[in-house]
Amino acid sequence: MDNVNEKIISQRIQNITESATLEMTRRSRELKAQGFDVINLSIGEPDFNTPEPVKEAAKEAIDNNITHYPPVAGFRELQEAIAKKLKRDNNLDFSPEQIVVSNGAKQSLANIFLSILDPDDEVIVTAPYWVSYADIIKLAGGKVVALPTSIEDDFKLNPRNLEAAITPKTKAFLFNSPSNPTGMVYSKEEMAGLAAVLKKYPDILVVSDEIYEHINYSGKHVSIASFPEIKKQTVVVNGVSKCYAMTGWRIGYMAGPLFLAKACTRLQGQYTSGPGTISQMAALKAMKNPPQNSAYIHDMVSAFKTRRDLLVKMMDEIPGIKTYVPRGAFYLFPDISSYFGKSDGETVISNATDFSLYLLDKAHVALVTGEAFGDPDCVRISYATSSDLLEEAVKRIKTTLKKLN
Ligand code: PMP
Ligand code: GLU
Repeated sequence: MDNVNEKIISQRIQNITESATLEMTRRSRELKAQGFDVINLSIGEPDFNTPEPVKEAAKEAIDNNITHYPPVAGFRELQEAIAKKLKRDNNLDFSPEQIVVSNGAKQSLANIFLSILDPDDEVIVTAPYWVSYADIIKLAGGKVVALPTSIEDDFKLNPRNLEAAITPKTKAFLFNSPSNPTGMVYSKEEMAGLAAVLKKYPDILVVSDEIYEHINYSGKHVSIASFPEIKKQTVVVNGVSKCYAMTGWRIGYMAGPLFLAKACTRLQGQYTSGPGTISQMAALKAMKNPPQNSAYIHDMVSAFKTRRDLLVKMMDEIPGIKTYVPRGAFYLFPDISSYFGKSDGETVISNATDFSLYLLDKAHVALVTGEAFGDPDCVRISYATSSDLLEEAVKRIKTTLKKLN
């Protein structure tokens, strides 16, 4: 008999991969620990610090002994603040009971898909998509139906392609605007076109991931839930990670049909319980501050915009790279496929994964392969970092790519 070994790992876990964004961050941490000067443009998190009043609220929560088990779906006060936020910022009506607070939007998504999917149920996703979508859906036993889009069509899904992909097995449509990894933002008219299709299928759940809501350079955020014809079949996923620079606090939420909120609460109660009390009190403070009055959010978003312009300009100067100018979020997703088949005499670049590993190895710049996002021609660069580091990173990328012929 063998000792316990990796064969014990379930098929369920063997079927999913390590998150590519977190993997590249792990690899760059490892290289840094070995003394290499690595520029990490792989993780999508603001390089800003959590606002001071939010940190104060967390300290107060500790001093006031708000340290006992929280209600599973989150503190009532926080659910109410989220309901108010949804009305204030998005003109959406949700009652506090329709809201479940979780350990990040990532857990909200996992709760939703674990709550609705039976084996082989289909979820329509637009590719490129955020890395974790595919694995969360697989983990829940579902099937990802990825609809490819390209730089030429601004990475946007057209309503005809959406309708053509719907089958009797379609349980949900996963929508993400502003988008990770492309930075694409749908206009209100484009959303209306998709909503017109979805309203014909009221049994399909629309899962709208709006985590980049406030990081939008193209105007005010529009939630697809604000189309009354599909409001009842839509669940909004959002959180405090990105716009309040609170990635480590792990607070996200869903707001949707009551039956779904109840199912997610039941699951969460058996799985993790409610999220940390200190983090919830910090999120409560953040959420109460209307973003349009927040100098903090304004300054952060304008810094991202300046960096976007700088990065696009610098990348456009590198031969063979096609860029799409992002309208939101903080990622650039250039097409680098013209480098496929090139070599420095030793290493051949066959695909986007080779390309990103080559840059990590030779330039010590960490990007993420587009393959993880369902687009094998691109790589993702996070520009949530200082302009100086971005300039240095592009300089290194340019020098390294020159060696490929
Ligand atoms: N959705 C998208 C599109 C994301 O990029 C992220 C990245 N963090 C998440 C959801 C999850 O965010 P969090 O769990 O930090 O709230
Ligand atoms: N969402 C961020 C990203 O795409 C954070 C890392 C993660 O959770 O994937 O990089």
